[in-house]
Amino acid sequence: MARYKDAVCRLCRKEGTKLYLKGERCFKDSCAIERRNFPPGQHGTMRRGKLVGYGLQLREKQKLKRMFGLLESQFKTYFEKAEKKKGITGENLLILLERRLDNVVHRMGFASSRAHARQVICHGHVKVNGKRVDIPSYLVAAGDAITLGEKGLKNLHVQSALESARGKGGLMPWLEMDWEGMAGKVISLPKREDVKYPVAEHLIVELYSKV
Ligand code: SF4
Repeated sequence: MARYKDAVCRLCRKEGTKLYLKGERCFKDSCAIERRNFPPGQHGTMRRGKLVGYGLQLREKQKLKRMFGLLESQFKTYFEKAEKKKGITGENLLILLERRLDNVVHRMGFASSRAHARQVICHGHVKVNGKRVDIPSYLVAAGDAITLGEKGLKNLHVQSALESARGKGGLMPWLEMDWEGMAGKVISLPKREDVKYPVAEHLIVELYSKV
């Protein structure tokens, strides 16, 4: 039973949805949501009450924040940036998050999860257009080439992530991967329809509009 005590999986159980924080395990039957989809804790087996208003808005924000492993202050900064951009704030927010280098490295298959991608980036293995970038929050632009140094590509966890991603296929339409050369490319910026999170972003906008 110990595996269900995993702190990361508890976040998914709290939100009642898969946040895909554990890499490969998220796609297996051992995923805590598949096995125990009720809130963690002493009263966890009690049914989730139907959330409305502020409670619902808060949960939507927590879900997105946790998917990206962000602190409240960091998440708020993304929201403020999204507000300043032209267009719909909620969509801008999702697109900004999607452009983070840790997300892109994970999406391309160099890492099994965003947390793993952050590790790979912080260890200096990732290059953008041939230059090392060790900032997980770096925002990619259309045309950026994403590669790993020789040491990074030899890492067993990276190799296993790449193998699994190649097997699964289904790369986002705004990204491209050359599996032979182990090099990724950002073809264009993501659009709202490319970002398929289980999150109602308009509720996050409503939440921050009240503050
Ligand atoms: Fe754990 Fe992943 Fe399942 Fe979430 S989706 S409960 S992180 S295995």
